[in-house]
Amino acid sequence: MTAPMSLFRTQSRTYQDPEPIHVIGGGLAGCEAAWQIVRRGVPVVLHEMRPDKMTPAHQTDGLAELVCSNSLRADDHAANAVGLLHEELRRMDSLILRCADAARVPAGGALAVDREGFSARVQVALHGERLFKLKLGEIKDPRRFEDWDNVVIASGPLTSDALSDAIRDMTGADQMSFFDAIAPIVYKDSIDFSKAWYQSRYDKGDGKDYINCAMDKDQYHAFVQALLDAEKTRFKDWEADTPYFEGCLPIEVMAERGPETLTFGPMKPVGLTNPHAPGKRAYAVVQLRQDNKLGTLWNMVGFQTKLTYGEQKRIFQMIPGLENAEFARLGGMHRNTFIKSPALLDETLRLKSLPAIRFAGQITGCEGYVESAAIGLLAGMFAAHDRLGRDNAPPPPTTALGALLNHVTGGADAESFQPMNINFGLFPPADIDDRPPEMRGKRLKRTDRKKARKAAVCTRALTDLDAWAAQTKT
Ligand SMILES: Cc1cc2nc3c(=O)[nH]c(=O)nc-3n(C[C@H](O)[C@H](O)[C@H](O)COP(=O)(O)OP(=O)(O)OC[C@H]3O[C@@H](n4cnc5c(N)ncnc54)[C@H](O)[C@@H]3O)c2cc1C
Repeated sequence: MTAPMSLFRTQSRTYQDPEPIHVIGGGLAGCEAAWQIVRRGVPVVLHEMRPDKMTPAHQTDGLAELVCSNSLRADDHAANAVGLLHEELRRMDSLILRCADAARVPAGGALAVDREGFSARVQVALHGERLFKLKLGEIKDPRRFEDWDNVVIASGPLTSDALSDAIRDMTGADQMSFFDAIAPIVYKDSIDFSKAWYQSRYDKGDGKDYINCAMDKDQYHAFVQALLDAEKTRFKDWEADTPYFEGCLPIEVMAERGPETLTFGPMKPVGLTNPHAPGKRAYAVVQLRQDNKLGTLWNMVGFQTKLTYGEQKRIFQMIPGLENAEFARLGGMHRNTFIKSPALLDETLRLKSLPAIRFAGQITGCEGYVESAAIGLLAGMFAAHDRLGRDNAPPPPTTALGALLNHVTGGADAESFQPMNINFGLFPPADIDDRPPEMRGKRLKRTDRKKARKAAVCTRALTDLDAWAAQTKT
């Protein structure tokens, strides 16, 4: 670790201090959790396996290393969901946001940082806390330590093999994934229902569980050709052995197997009648399935892909009904360890089957530096409150923290669960009259209405966050 040696002196706990909480993983989530714990007067031991054992992506022995980009994305809390999450984290005394603000480098409207300065600041801040202790070494199974009664696992998307095995043992083998196979997710209100329609194949289930987009023969073949010609992203060297399962092939790989392959796979046109053209059989159909309880987000079934983001937008907007689609998430495939949190975790991130253990960060199925820190903040706060015998009230779902927490702990569909960034589709819709005073009383164009709706969500979120934060302090 690169912090000055004097900072490593272990200042001993006093006899009045509660027993420590153990946090596994000194990344964005683990550091934020540790900070929230010590700031509430509870000792913490942060366990980090680097440098003894490195992950395939980390390059340093520093805490809170940013493994790729140095950007924490857009910083506009009136118009952008991740910007709103920044602001909420600042208001909740987040260590990650405090250090990011201090290590900021110019990046237009984004919050980008000097990565070494950022990591060093996180370390200095943590080591400056009397109740903080860093212990180096891999934790293979937290259940081996009998006196660990309050644990946060924040070991990230590249959790070590031994700990992954232990987690699989705790959760059940089919409750953990080692790579993501992400299909794009579309905001429902950007779908053109003069072309698309609700219907399940053969009217099964509710009869209208899917949104369907039909193609004729020419449209289908133009679409397949576009997939074949499109630019694809490559796996990194250490991801090269990422498995393609037959049931989960990228859409473009399926297209390479033959021009008609997709019409026998995810685009098969059977069991459906297009009410916009009842007498005409579709040549192919793209289906979207509801992705969250709110019904605002819909995933493109079977459309996991390694196309570049630019190509995905261009090609998927060729689909009738999706010409103006807006994507809450684009597709991808990466090495990524995560659990089926919506089925496994309670609303304070505890493993339902083993409540002494909480999860935090990307391993819960959130995606991104800021989101990982956000779930780390909540896990640390909940763990400390448990230790202090205080009640835990999760943040309201109208806040960015609450919307993200709600998504990973039950709002998302557990079966199709895949990692997700914060986005406006995770919030309950806001009344447009909740928008800030300067935007009220005007007739709005379509794009302005969208802006106003986002502004309304942001205004409501910060009001609700402040009320909740005041309550959690009493
Ligand atoms: C290659 C790659 C690139 C990414 N790029 C971006 C990006 O550009 N922007 C973005 O927003 N997000 C990115 N992400 C996604 C994600 O936001 C980051 O991985 C983020 O760092 C996750 O935070 P975390 O705290 O959950 O995990 P991490 O930051 O990975 O921290 C986990 C820590 O746990 C340690 N650990 C693992 N196993 C053990 C063990 N058994 N015992 C003790 N310690 C252990 C690891 O060494 C690590 O320090 C990327 C992910 C990957 C894998």
